[in-house]
Amino acid sequence: MSLDSKIPNGPISDKWTNYKDHINLVNPANKRNIDIIVVGTGLAGGSAAATLAELGYNVKAFCFQDSPRRAHSIAAQGGINAAKNYQGDGDSTFRLFYDTVKGGDYRAREANVHRLAEVSANIIDQCVAQGVPLAREYGGLLDNRSFGGTLVSRTFYAKGQTGQQLLLGAYSAMNRQIGRGKIKMHNRHEMLDLVIVNGKARGIIARNLVTGEIERHSAHAVVIASGGYGNVFFLSTNAMGSNATAAWKIHKKGAFFANPCYTQIHPTCIPVSGDHQSKLTLMSESLRNDGRIWVPKSLEDAKAIREGKKKPTDLSEEERDYYLERRYPSFGNLVPRDVASRAAKERCDAGYGVNKTGEAVYLDFAAAIQRYGKEQAYIKGLDADDKKLVIKLGTDVVANKYGNLFQMYEKIVDENPYVTPMMIYPAVHYTMGGTWVDYNLMTTIPGCFSIGESNFSDHGANRLGASALMQGLADGYFVLPYTIGDYLAPDIKTGKISTDLPEFVEAENNVREQLNKFINNNGKHSVDHFHKKLGKIMWDKVGMARNAEGLNEAIHEIAELREEFYRDVKVPGSIDSFNQELEKAMRVADFLELGELFAKDALHRNESCGGHFREEYQTEEGEAMRDDENFAYVAAWEYKGKPSEAVLHKEPLVYENIKLVQRSYK
Ligand SMILES: Cc1cc2nc3c(=O)[nH]c(=O)nc-3n(C[C@H](O)[C@H](O)[C@H](O)COP(=O)(O)OP(=O)(O)OC[C@H]3O[C@@H](n4cnc5c(N)ncnc54)[C@H](O)[C@@H]3O)c2cc1C
Repeated sequence: MSLDSKIPNGPISDKWTNYKDHINLVNPANKRNIDIIVVGTGLAGGSAAATLAELGYNVKAFCFQDSPRRAHSIAAQGGINAAKNYQGDGDSTFRLFYDTVKGGDYRAREANVHRLAEVSANIIDQCVAQGVPLAREYGGLLDNRSFGGTLVSRTFYAKGQTGQQLLLGAYSAMNRQIGRGKIKMHNRHEMLDLVIVNGKARGIIARNLVTGEIERHSAHAVVIASGGYGNVFFLSTNAMGSNATAAWKIHKKGAFFANPCYTQIHPTCIPVSGDHQSKLTLMSESLRNDGRIWVPKSLEDAKAIREGKKKPTDLSEEERDYYLERRYPSFGNLVPRDVASRAAKERCDAGYGVNKTGEAVYLDFAAAIQRYGKEQAYIKGLDADDKKLVIKLGTDVVANKYGNLFQMYEKIVDENPYVTPMMIYPAVHYTMGGTWVDYNLMTTIPGCFSIGESNFSDHGANRLGASALMQGLADGYFVLPYTIGDYLAPDIKTGKISTDLPEFVEAENNVREQLNKFINNNGKHSVDHFHKKLGKIMWDKVGMARNAEGLNEAIHEIAELREEFYRDVKVPGSIDSFNQELEKAMRVADFLELGELFAKDALHRNESCGGHFREEYQTEEGEAMRDDENFAYVAAWEYKGKPSEAVLHKEPLVYENIKLVQRSYK
């Protein structure tokens, strides 16, 4: 099968407009005859479900939480990008497009990214109209801050709770449609397979997680909006429930999986504290607007801090190494995440890390508190030389901007970050890879679409901060509602899809068989036992730095672990009742396959780009070294029975509007 990305012809800035002007439409009366399943109600699925229902389609929405409001999107902290140029600092659609392609280390599809930049401004208008309380300046205008990889301020935010506020907006839009009967909401349901009839996606098999009942649901198209797969590493900043099952099941039914090895390791997370841990906590990138990152300049000081003999505040300015400002003077602390994460690892590996484990660097707000404090003193006509007063005034400003993040840090680490610099270390955060989709956001299965973090998205090999919310809402509010109509136009006379078709029966039987297999397995170890082992292999050999030897070992070890899992996993309870161990077993089974494909993808990509860092391919200064001649393509894998037999398809990436150059943030 050959990949057709269906990119429209014409100049980049006209493609989307011209395309929309000429695609097939479904008239309002006919939309009432069409059913669409949306799996996932995070920002991508929630916005899509609300918009499709508003347009008149009958939507069936699914999520495994007890409410759409609890989707992982609620965790997003820092903000959402849009090329509004409210700051008059030189932003534009082109600049957002350029920053995103460059940020992704030139491994994204130009046409999709340009469309994303074009619709970004509409998202803000939409959310403001919904009543989302985005932060405003003193004069009432919407405020912006900066995120990594950009030289402008284009990030809209709601304190450190942007995802929550945006999700409440999408949820209220959904709720209106639930009230009208246009969305049938299936909370606490997990999709466990896709049903294909005559080559088209026509439904899903879902398990009611409360009663254990297995259900068949049909539709004319299926939209997967199930989020990312960062939890393949066991420890990540993702919600505990985030998983790859929906995306992996469609992969096994024919949807190609693209760039699985592109994973984002976020530089500012609370460091791992021990083996007992099952979750990591993000400290939003927005903190890098004001926080300065450093480690001690001397190995002796680093050792003394690790041993508790010195405190960071004992070190003078001259004794600190602000290594990002030193290495990347023009972007400083706001270099993209992949660059910042690797720089932290480099310092810690060289022995300069703080924290007992030696795996942490400082994120320090002392300079910002001083700066803001003095400014406030001038504004208020107070004494700018009164040190205590300046600290008090500056602390208030910082608390106003990031208060909930500081509170969260203090609760977890039990140290006051206004006084002692925060300790941070990189952690798995986001997956740029996912199901391959064409320009219409359709996978290689006709009628099966994929949006938000679950698709391979617009972020190439590295996502810029505040761009995931933008992409999820762009897909759901402004892209899919058009492109799905083009696909559905010939379906207006099809009528209801029966769930009695043999394809539904077969898919349901397969799901039942898998569930029963776990319950009847007489193993010794819990699901978490295997998940932790997988996570360790992934982090050690497929994590922030990879090499061919480690990747070969990982492939082998994951395949072995999978066999052991099926032999020795113990899942208590029954299939026809509430059973969280069973839910986890199904998810970890998929992670154990995905992990192997992930390592295989990383092994085949003999270059470093964005979040994919192969130790063999780096410059003398330790920067990622791309190989555009041989690897400027999307790697889309076709399932052939097991991960080791997956077949690689390549979608060449053509750069007509942005010149391919080695990335620099100096
Ligand atoms: C801590 C944290 C902070 C972040 N902050 C930011 C930020 O400031 N800005 C930014 O741009 N991005 C941020 N991100 C990234 C961003 O939050 C996510 O990429 C984005 O929210 C993903 O949205 P989504 O709709 O694609 O998926 P999700 O929000 O993950 O939703 C997935 C949905 O799918 C459902 N689902 C999954 N599998 C199944 C199944 N098998 N059956 C039924 N339902 C299923 C779930 O129930 C859920 O409703 C952050 C991420 C993290 C981890």
